Formats: sequence, C-alpha cells, structure tokens
Amino acid sequence: MTARMTPFELMQKLVSFPTVSRDTNIPLIDWVAEYLESHGIASHRYIHPDQPKHALFAHAGPWEEGAVVLSGHTDVVPVDGQPWDSDPFTVVERDGRYYGRGCCDMKGFDALAIWALVEAHHAGVQRPLQIALSFDEEIGCTGAPPMIEAMQPVLPKGALVIVGEPSTMQAVTGHKGGTGFNTHVVGFEVHSSLLHTGVNAIMAGAKLIEWANEV
Ligand SMILES: [Zn+2]
Repeated sequence: MTARMTPFELMQKLVSFPTVSRDTNIPLIDWVAEYLESHGIASHRYIHPDQPKHALFAHAGPWEEGAVVLSGHTDVVPVDGQPWDSDPFTVVERDGRYYGRGCCDMKGFDALAIWALVEAHHAGVQRPLQIALSFDEEIGCTGAPPMIEAMQPVLPKGALVIVGEPSTMQAVTGHKGGTGFNTHVVGFEVHSSLLHTGVNAIMAGAKLIEWANEV
C-alpha cells in the first residue's frame, strides 16, 4: 500500500496536471484511480463519448444508500497570456498563500475529498462517503449531469452533496440561474395615411426591451 498523502501533497499532485478545459484530464483521473486502488478503494468512470475526458466516482464505508458525496471538477481555466510569477502548475507558497492554477477552484477541495475518502475507508465509517470528480465545469457545467447519471446504476444513492466551489467559506445552499424567452412582438399593419391607427412592432418591442433591462 502506498503511503497516505496529506491534503497538501494531494493538491500539489492534482495541480501538476495541466487540466485546462480544452485539454484532456485523463492522466489526472488515472492517477487518482491508482491512488485510491492502492488504498483498496475501487473507482468508476464516466467516459466522454468523443473527447479525451473522464469523470471519476468512488464509494467508501458501508455499501448502502445515504452517502455524503464530496464533488469537485478537475478542469481549470487557461493560463494563456496571464502574468504568472511562477509555473502555474507547480504549487508554491508565498506570504502564507498557495499559488497554483486550481488551488482555490477547485483542486484544493478535490484533494480534501480524496484525502477524506481514504481516511473514511481506513477508519471504517458508519455512514458511506463518496467522491465525484467531473470535467468541463469551467465551460458551462456540462460534465456533471452525465456523470450523475452514470453514478446511479453503479453506486448506492447519496443523500447529500457538498460541492467545494470557492465561496469565501460560506455555505451556499442555492444558486442564481438564468432564464431565456423567445418573444414575438406582433404589430398592426395599416396604410401610411392612417399611421395613427396602426401599431409598430419595433416600437412596442423597444419598450419591452427597455422594461426587461430595468427589471
Ligand atoms: Zn470551480
């Protein structure tokens, strides 16, 4: 069995994989799977149908429903053109802070999740713990839904999920969303000599747009 790594060591390792959303995350997932395997924890994957990206999920503790699921994404935003003072994919400590792409968002949490799963496995917890590591969060959260679907027939259903996105150490229980409307404004056509009896759809639409802006 390999030694148990600390959360910091795990974060250093995770950050060393340059998993920018446009690139593969498979080497990172392979490494996590091997690390968990070395501690006797089997992991499972959702494999992207046409891109080199994998999601990973695993379970520790009694094989029953009701797990706490620790979930994070493995992809990071690009570093192109940014004025880094050090290698973005090597964690360095300066002035009591860690610098490295993804330390905060969100390989730091991924490291804690992996660490907690191994600890839970060795401690023999009463309540199951699961981890779920996704891809493509930074480009629209598109990786999580198929991963969740893939988990259903494989692992006992979890009871709650903690997603370790940076939130200034505050628990966030909801999320802002967006709504789009396709709106068709219909005018009333008349002869130009009777303009005052007609309705211009553009003029009415402009009022609607202005109202939406105000709201
Ligand atoms: Zn994030």
